[in-house]
Amino acid sequence: MRPLVATVDLAAIRHNYAQAKRCAPGRRALAVVKADAYGHGAAMVATALAEEADGFAVCCVEEARVVRANAPKARILLLEGCFDEEDWRTAVALNLDVAVQGTEQAERLLMLRSDRQLNVWLKLDSGMHRLGFSAEEIRHWAERLRAAPQVAEVNLISHLACADEQGHELTGQQLDCYVDLQDVAFDQRSFANSAAVLTFAPAHMDWVRPGIMLYGASPFAGMSAAELGLTPAMSLTAQIIALHDVPAGEGVGYGAAWVAQRPSRIATVSCGYADGYPRHAPSGTPVVVRGRRVPLAGRVSMDMLAIDVTDLPEARIGDAVELWGAQLSVDEVAKAAGTIGYELLTKVTARVRREYRS
Ligand SMILES: *Cc1c(COP(=O)(O)O)cnc(C)c1O
Repeated sequence: MRPLVATVDLAAIRHNYAQAKRCAPGRRALAVVKADAYGHGAAMVATALAEEADGFAVCCVEEARVVRANAPKARILLLEGCFDEEDWRTAVALNLDVAVQGTEQAERLLMLRSDRQLNVWLKLDSGMHRLGFSAEEIRHWAERLRAAPQVAEVNLISHLACADEQGHELTGQQLDCYVDLQDVAFDQRSFANSAAVLTFAPAHMDWVRPGIMLYGASPFAGMSAAELGLTPAMSLTAQIIALHDVPAGEGVGYGAAWVAQRPSRIATVSCGYADGYPRHAPSGTPVVVRGRRVPLAGRVSMDMLAIDVTDLPEARIGDAVELWGAQLSVDEVAKAAGTIGYELLTKVTARVRREYRS
């Protein structure tokens, strides 16, 4: 069996969910489990949170099906709404909450023949300019949907573009846009992603939408998950599968891009970019062996990577190598590779075995 596993700590996810609730006291929280729960496995995460979560949010009906199968009674929000006829039928059948992010979706909803009323979340484009209606359009649609027999709750949702940069002026402007709509009656309102859950209480409203924080990673470049009271949920662990003594002057790996500056001991590790480890991680990016940090050496291959264990003479074949996780935050690895924890977590590929602990 290939010695590479993503171990997911479900207790950590429950802890982080509770942390989100503590940050937004009295508010309800949709656990965002899109993209297979940010690579952690949506079925297992939905099961683990089914009791305590107030609800879930997903990107599409395919994801909603997985959550519904494991959380039969939960509120599940389709963040981008329905894309086609089949989606609308599924939304009704699975009793989903649906975002309505544009005129096409709103008009289609009014044509829907359904024996069940849907909770609708009108999406306000408060400044991100990705999805949603202007404030003026929101007024129009709120009134029309309020009168529609297909609709139960008429709710308001918006998304913050810069909440991960504390004090960014756009965040305040986005909130002003919402304040302008305060005379419109909505059943529920939701603005906050993880960054706003953690640092911007004015956006908490009725429902917060924590995503990345549930998995124990930080939405901020300058603040670690540990500082935020979050526990990492995934540890990606490989093994040393070969050890080589490399004379000074010899290259290691593709392109011989790393050259030994001294007689070196190089360990080959059972994880590569086809597993989701970032190919752009430069030499020097840390991994953890026997509780010690050791540096990546040379280019990441498809199935393997090399590390320099010259300063860890006790390293042996079969030693566990943590690429990220409990001992090394995914955010630190992401930063070294020029990306964000979100991308690394969601890109762990299907061939990596997931194991669960609770
Ligand atoms: C992904 C997503 C979230 C969660 O964002 P995080 O930064 O991971 O907390 C919240 N709301 C919407 C609309 C999203 O697409």
